[in-house]
Amino acid sequence: MPWVHEESCTGCGLCIENCPVDAISIENGKAKILMEKCIRCGSCHDICPNEAVRHDSEKIPHIVASNVELTKRNMKISEEYFGSKEAGLKCLDKMIKHFIREKKIAEQTIEILEKIKAEESK
Ligand code: SF4
Ligand code: SF4
Repeated sequence: MPWVHEESCTGCGLCIENCPVDAISIENGKAKILMEKCIRCGSCHDICPNEAVRHDSEKIPHIVASNVELTKRNMKISEEYFGSKEAGLKCLDKMIKHFIREKKIAEQTIEILEKIKAEESK
């Protein structure tokens, strides 16, 4: 999914003019993409003169770091609330299971989408 690097955006509005589904607006002088509307066509990325529209992959390290922080926070709260280290470890197990589930969802979705792609490309 595209996202806007705010420091690079000048609010020129070119991306808005080239978005086919009106998914972009200007807020506080910066472009903002409404993900629910975006069809991932890439026009905004290609048209932006300042390379302010970035690809999702750039955010992966930040998302991973944020997941780790969230897990640590949950462990700490569990330890404090339930008063034992075991409670923190139980929480850690649950968070690992949660991310395994997310991975399975992504893998199964990709599998189906690849099949659709193969069918549609015939
Ligand atoms: S085209 Fe680029 S610089 Fe202009 S508003 Fe869109 S994101 Fe910002
Ligand atoms: S990727 Fe396409 S649909 Fe999504 S915000 Fe950019 S121009 Fe609009």
